[in-house]
Amino acid sequence: RGTMTVGETAKLLHKDASEVIKKLIMLGVMATINQELDIETIQLLAGDFGVEVEVKIPVEDDRFETMEEVDDEANLKTRPPVVTIMGHVDHGKTTLLDAIRSTNVTGGEAGGITQHIGAYQVEINGKKISFLDTPGHEAFTAMRARGAQVTDMTIIVVAADDGVMPQTVEAVNHAKAANLPIIVAVNKIDKPGSDPDRVKQELTEYGLVPEEWGGDTIFVNVSAKQRMGLEDLLEMILLVAEVNDYKANPDKRARGTVIEAELDKGRGPVARILVQHGTLKVGDAFVAGNCFGRVRAMVNDKGRRLKEAGPSTPVEITGLTEVPLAGDPFMVFEDERKARSIADKRAITQRESDMGANTRVTLDDLFKHI
Ligand code: GDP
Ligand code: MG
Repeated sequence: RGTMTVGETAKLLHKDASEVIKKLIMLGVMATINQELDIETIQLLAGDFGVEVEVKIPVEDDRFETMEEVDDEANLKTRPPVVTIMGHVDHGKTTLLDAIRSTNVTGGEAGGITQHIGAYQVEINGKKISFLDTPGHEAFTAMRARGAQVTDMTIIVVAADDGVMPQTVEAVNHAKAANLPIIVAVNKIDKPGSDPDRVKQELTEYGLVPEEWGGDTIFVNVSAKQRMGLEDLLEMILLVAEVNDYKANPDKRARGTVIEAELDKGRGPVARILVQHGTLKVGDAFVAGNCFGRVRAMVNDKGRRLKEAGPSTPVEITGLTEVPLAGDPFMVFEDERKARSIADKRAITQRESDMGANTRVTLDDLFKHI
């Protein structure tokens, strides 16, 4: 559900497959007859052929993720893992994030102003790790509910003096539901009365069994406050990343997810974006949710201006016409006209679905007719 092959799309549009393929090539998509196309592309094609496909797409389903653009294995390159930190309130998520970030202020960046851009990247032994700076289940849940799959693994922080608490369990459930590798950071081990083994014991009830007890969950004892165990934690993250071998094709138009966005008094709409595929460049025309724009300026988490940003890079961009929502998919198009027309279509779809309006054909109907 959510995709059709080139052949099926051709049939739907009453065109020859070869015409469709030609059009796709003009859109920059190298396609074969059996290639799966996402709704976005199908709509684009329909528009280009002047065919009115009245598709009502429920907004929740209108996602770039459905675009299963198959990358040739040869074009994939290892990318940094994207990590989120979750856990019960006051167990030390913020302290841990801050400690990791400041651990990593390397020579060239020292003195640079750290920007809050919703995410940041650290480098350890020449390898990068991206952290989403949105601890808290709400942000995570909101993004997941919107279909944004932005993270590769999750660190669950549990305070060793407090043990497993309701939001710890919630975090475990979220991570499992999202099929994310989990690393448990047992925090506050500096505190008298802290009992890391109790945390391990308690978590076995939720299926997280440490390696030394025959399970496969990585536990790392840390003290965010005293900066103990941070390197172990980072090394474990790199290990999990290595095992999972996260890859992306950097050599295509960028796609990603909006992490945060706001209206800045001086700069207008500002969006913090995680680039997930391709490379984002200054000047690129894009759609973010129902908004469109052209990347005017791009800075990283160290406040450095970038000309381009590859997979797993968090960046802040200006050049939007409106403020998108956290979790909105972000995608670069070949030109601003295309970006605008897609943003407009989405805005209309959104309005219609907001009003509960019934258009002629629903997406379900569309796929039923194939
Ligand atoms: P969050 O709600 O999970 O983001 O927790 P915070 O990072 O705000 O930390 C909650 C409190 O625990 C703060 O007062 C921190 O200083 C304290 N804290 C965090 N990590 C440690 C630690 O490793 N050891 C000790 N002793 N206190 C910590
Ligand atoms: Mg916090």
